[in-house]
Amino acid sequence: MALFTQNSAYALVTALAAQRPVHAAFAWLRRNARKLMDWQMELVAIPAPPFGEQARSQWLAARFAEAGLSGVRTDDAGNVLATLAAAKLPPESTGPVVILSAHIDTVFPAGTPLRPVLSEVDGFCRLQAPGASDNATGVVGLLAIAHALVQSRMELPAPLVFLGNVGEEGEGDLRGIRHLYGQRTLAGRVVAHIVLDGAGCDSAVTQALGSRRYQVTISGPGGHSFTDAGTPNPIAALAAALAVLSRTPLPDEPRTTLNLGTIHGGTSVNSIPESVTASIDFRSTSAEQLLRLEAALRRAVEEAVEQCNAMVTATAAKSRGPLTFGIAKIGDRPAGALAADSPLLEALRAVDRHMNLKTDLRLGSTDANLPLSLGIPALSLGAGGEGGGAHTQAEWFSSRGRDVGLKRVLLLTLAMVEWAAGQ
Ligand SMILES: [Zn+2]
Repeated sequence: MALFTQNSAYALVTALAAQRPVHAAFAWLRRNARKLMDWQMELVAIPAPPFGEQARSQWLAARFAEAGLSGVRTDDAGNVLATLAAAKLPPESTGPVVILSAHIDTVFPAGTPLRPVLSEVDGFCRLQAPGASDNATGVVGLLAIAHALVQSRMELPAPLVFLGNVGEEGEGDLRGIRHLYGQRTLAGRVVAHIVLDGAGCDSAVTQALGSRRYQVTISGPGGHSFTDAGTPNPIAALAAALAVLSRTPLPDEPRTTLNLGTIHGGTSVNSIPESVTASIDFRSTSAEQLLRLEAALRRAVEEAVEQCNAMVTATAAKSRGPLTFGIAKIGDRPAGALAADSPLLEALRAVDRHMNLKTDLRLGSTDANLPLSLGIPALSLGAGGEGGGAHTQAEWFSSRGRDVGLKRVLLLTLAMVEWAAGQ
């Protein structure tokens, strides 16, 4: 089957939902609400600052093994992987796979007090702790789906890979997912990637906002403001370059932004500076726009430096030497978007229709950016329940509606595994 049509996706989801093991999986999710909350309590108490996720990797590897998944392993980046094998395929088969992932890192630096507080509100558990929702909810969602599928003896037609990955937040710059897709043996087999991030069941990120960040440094010999006058000035060159760059036209569609973030440099008011540095942030859903802006940045800096150097030659003024420049990329989240006729989107719409839900499609910067930029169908969605206060100490999660969200994830995942088997 090449592409899903709307109707074939709906027929598949309805047929899946009628299967006995799928009923058993739903029942497992309903029965084990307390167990899921216990896992979530344990998980949030384990620190996972950017680049310090080892303890969580170990915890998750143990839980994956406990769930009965096979091939539990931790890769060089610290990502934890495990597989629910296809029922009728030999384990060494190299066919299509579906990935279900959740990031295990948090934004909170090492040493942040992690004191989970559990309470009951309107008959639902409420957990307050840094990272309670983002992304303990996603990680617990992974475990819940794994247990529910194993316990219900669901026979999959293609392998499902469970992944707890490192490095999603800020400085992590998607390093966990980047590492995974750098491994050709697995990356080449992924036909759909579903990311669980945070709570909720009414939206999905299907458009990946790309960002690129640069640091521009212009340097020269510098000197005394009076006796060395005529020596080109790095601040003058940078100011000219940024003035030109800031006038670059930016389209509304695809939405594209440019920010001049910081400037540092100079020695004193009576010195020709030796160096100046600026940082710049570009964002867009279009990879071409990001490339266009990078080219505009390079051109603006190059021309401004050339002009400053040429001015000195033209006036034959006394110069201690020319300016040089460097442009370093300090961040790169690739852009991409899930195609409107993608089987993953058809499957999501079919699940919505079956469950009487409505998913808003959103723009965001998530682990799904990387597969989307490679043309692999991917999206990021909540693992049910409610949450708020993400990236603050007052972050919370409530189990109200967790079962609906997990049912949605389960049906979507199973539909994609069916689809993968036909590829
Ligand atoms: Zn997150």
